[in-house]
Amino acid sequence: MCGIFGIFNHREASNLVYLGLHALQHRGQESAGIVSTDGATMYMRREMGLVSDIFDEEGLQEVKGHAAIGHVRYSTAGSSSLKNAQPFVVEYSKGALAIAHNGNLTNAKIVRDELQNYGSIFQSTMDTEVIVHLIALSHENLTLDRLISALRRIEGSYSLLLLTDKEMIAVRDPYGFRPLVLGKLKDSYAVSSETCAFDLIEADYLREVEPGEVIHISKDGIRSYSPFKKVEPRRCIFEYIYFARPDSQVYGRTVYGVRKAFGRELARERGVEADMVIPIPDSGISAAIGYSQASGIPFEMGLMRNHYIGRTFIEPKESIRHFGVKLKLNADHETVRGKRIVVVDDSIVRATTGRKIITMLRQRGAKEIHFRVTSPPTRFPCFYGIDTPSRSELIASSHEIEEINKYMTSDTLEYLTIDGLKRAIGNGSGSFHYSFCDACFSGDYPLRFPWGMELEQMELFVKR
Ligand code: 5GP
Ligand code: SF4
Ligand code: MG
Repeated sequence: MCGIFGIFNHREASNLVYLGLHALQHRGQESAGIVSTDGATMYMRREMGLVSDIFDEEGLQEVKGHAAIGHVRYSTAGSSSLKNAQPFVVEYSKGALAIAHNGNLTNAKIVRDELQNYGSIFQSTMDTEVIVHLIALSHENLTLDRLISALRRIEGSYSLLLLTDKEMIAVRDPYGFRPLVLGKLKDSYAVSSETCAFDLIEADYLREVEPGEVIHISKDGIRSYSPFKKVEPRRCIFEYIYFARPDSQVYGRTVYGVRKAFGRELARERGVEADMVIPIPDSGISAAIGYSQASGIPFEMGLMRNHYIGRTFIEPKESIRHFGVKLKLNADHETVRGKRIVVVDDSIVRATTGRKIITMLRQRGAKEIHFRVTSPPTRFPCFYGIDTPSRSELIASSHEIEEINKYMTSDTLEYLTIDGLKRAIGNGSGSFHYSFCDACFSGDYPLRFPWGMELEQMELFVKR
């Protein structure tokens, strides 16, 4: 996963990108970077770490100019190191260009091998770099056409931003796996992974960048193209479940509203008698509120979170390693003692979090624990930009729900159905005509694998 943000035609371009990236920090905490242009030269700053640690006032002044793009990274392809930080910048015969990419190119290794056979020299292990080489090799004249011809050879998911000294280009792949939105701030256009970044900089949210759409922004204004073969879009449903920020509007609805609807649907599908509903913070909070509202069972913050621990916290080795989830969460004694509790979380991956939390709640005297998950069992890996592990590590790919329940030591364990998910997304708006990618639950992968690979081969091919 990653987050991208860009703005064109603003005096304080890099300051606004800094703010945008700050709002998108949940999408990646490994590295961050900003590349800007003043119309003649490109400026770059990229480092490992969090946005607020990387950029100070001086640092931001170095990334000068009226246009800038930025990236926060959570590696799904290529290792975690500075050479893989984005935006990616190259100098080639037509000048300099920078690219920021959210997604995962499923045929990158194949294209990369071909390019290397022809003599291309790669600087990174990122899938994104193949796009840059294809652009450099293209015979087209305009950057826009070079980019389009490069992307015609690429399969997989990409929401991306490209910057040259003259233009900013936003593209979303034909399936629209990853989100991408267009906003406006006075005379400037902004593009972001999520709308929460527009709220922060007080830009107006205009619309989604459509699946398959290419938006060209320059001094001459904004133009939209649809150069790719049309397919039925398959937006990632997991953005609603886990990844996006609750205050963002994703595919036309706020994530908070959708997550509450998941909770309501779950209460209807898999209700149980209990004294309280508690979320696993933060990812389970919105859905637990919905569950509570639909069931009439009181909502409680039975688990408290330590906010000074990020998703990247390094667990100390050996003697105190077993503290695990306790470093992040603690259960409130008075609230949970003697109670029948519905615990709500968004998803189960390896089931280690749930198991540890249940142990903690039992130690604090909880009487019954009914674990409720606001998505179906995660049985399949994602090849489109979300870092779910391979099937051998996904507990639901090899275990029945009752076996997972035993492992987690809950009294009962229930998941939301795929139909329930879709019903929840559809209510409220009435006009929900989107199809979604739900491959991590259903195994129904929208894109065929390159070379006609089987799922087993694809796992070995794409996953590290
Ligand atoms: P488990 O302990 O079952 O492996 O992990 C479950 C927890 O991981 C859930 O609380 C969920 O919010 C979180 N989670 C689900 N998907 C992802 C992901 O792609 N990345 C990260 N960092 N956490 C995830
Ligand atoms: Fe999203 Fe799952 Fe599809 Fe990946 S496989 S794009 S996480 S719905
Ligand atoms: Mg969580």
